[in-house]
Amino acid sequence: MTLRLYRSDPYLASFRSRVVARLTYKGAPALILDQTAFYPEAGGQPHDTGTIGSARVVDVIEDAQGAILHILDGVNAGDCPQPGDEVACCIDWARRFDHMQQHSGQHILSQAFVRVAGLDTVAVHIGQTDCTIDLPTAALMPDAIERAEREANAIVMEDRPVLAYEVGDADLATIPLRRPPKVSGTIRIVEVKDYDWSACGGTHVRSTAQIGLIKIIKAERRGAETRLTFRCGGRAFDDYVRLSAATARLMEALSAGRYDVEQAVQRLITEVQAGRKALQEAQARLIAYEAAQLLAGAVRDGDQLWVTQAFAKREPAELRGMAKELSRASRVVVLLGASGDQAQLVFARASDAAGDMSEALRRALAVLSPEGAAKGGGAPAFAQGGGVAADLAQVQAAIAAARAWLNDQLRATSVSADKS
Ligand SMILES: [Zn+2]
Repeated sequence: MTLRLYRSDPYLASFRSRVVARLTYKGAPALILDQTAFYPEAGGQPHDTGTIGSARVVDVIEDAQGAILHILDGVNAGDCPQPGDEVACCIDWARRFDHMQQHSGQHILSQAFVRVAGLDTVAVHIGQTDCTIDLPTAALMPDAIERAEREANAIVMEDRPVLAYEVGDADLATIPLRRPPKVSGTIRIVEVKDYDWSACGGTHVRSTAQIGLIKIIKAERRGAETRLTFRCGGRAFDDYVRLSAATARLMEALSAGRYDVEQAVQRLITEVQAGRKALQEAQARLIAYEAAQLLAGAVRDGDQLWVTQAFAKREPAELRGMAKELSRASRVVVLLGASGDQAQLVFARASDAAGDMSEALRRALAVLSPEGAAKGGGAPAFAQGGGVAADLAQVQAAIAAARAWLNDQLRATSVSADKS
């Protein structure tokens, strides 16, 4: 069985070891060593990476039999260490120390929520960017986060020792464990001196000051639980650097003080909303005015008024607005279109006018795109479509085709009406 050096000395970053076995794990070479400081993925803490000889260790896992497999990359079969070889091993210390800061910080934060809000942590995740704890409440008291954060950071600043020791069943009852252990027999306890006792096999800093800042950056409700995202130490510092730089840029852009940026953004949002509303009102007035102009130039044919117009590049919403406005007039048929990369057609008629707009649109779309790429549809009184590139002349031709078809239909209807 491999001796786990990280348990007695979590600060051991380079060591020598002897290869016990060489095997293949999911197609990659893997080694079992007689002793290792490589931490395998366990208890929510991610695995270490590093090197064994000239090979890179990309994953470390503990198999069902309790063997620790070091998965290698960047080594060809001939260069791979053999059983019996003594090898120089090195773990990626920056990555490991980051995990230690997050893990120790998590123990303190979980205890802080017990003391401040009476909430036990029910799940933990230590990720490569974010760490989370889940608390068994859907409604966290509004000030609980800040109070727990302040308490956790006070424990950091007191620089309390973090101890790891093993206890047997007989002595377990004397330890005020935060949560009951998942295993029986001899239990490894990680103690933040006189503050928190956890059954834990992970690697931890030797005193709380090494954790650095503990900061919760997000709280989200998940069913009956609340998930808190937090960052510790170097990660919290990096986060502060980024947010500080972003704040400085906003201060400059908004000519606002450091703590006035939020208010300045709120003012900006209010202004944008008011501006948008004013613009919509102005556009509506403009469309009504344009509609009146078009109606004045409408062509009378039989007992219907015809408004046909092709525009160069108009927003579909504007075309719709104009068509709806126009079709309020009595006995009016409106055939509008706009050219562009996404040409549009909008056909409408008054409720007392005749003609099937949806069928007329179908004829017009076939002119825009004989291959059938132009799509659209609607009802007898209103239809719209388009979506293919077309220039002004093509849009005019499509509208003319719709008009001609409608004329034929109306004439046929009136002839049959005359006969009856
Ligand atoms: Zn732990």
